Amino acid sequence: TYVVTDNCIACKYTDCVEVCPVDCFYEGENFLAIHPDECIDCGVCEPECPADAIRPDTEPDMEKWVELNRKYAELW
Ligand code: SF4
Repeated sequence: TYVVTDNCIACKYTDCVEVCPVDCFYEGENFLAIHPDECIDCGVCEPECPADAIRPDTEPDMEKWVELNRKYAELW
């Protein structure tokens, strides 16, 4: 799965939301979240993010971001 990380905070761009083929972005007031069970790992959102906030969970220490994205995606 891909996850949204801290560079997203207060970012005003939603280019990533528009390109996601499965609509798995959830929008909060200051932050976006990707539902990790809905993301199909296509990767098209990553280069669209001007804040470089979207990362694959294969990078080190991403577990906490996966859980945060899940928590907020289910809340919103
Ligand atoms: Fe959506 Fe693809 Fe990004 Fe996952 S990797 S959030 S499916 S655009």
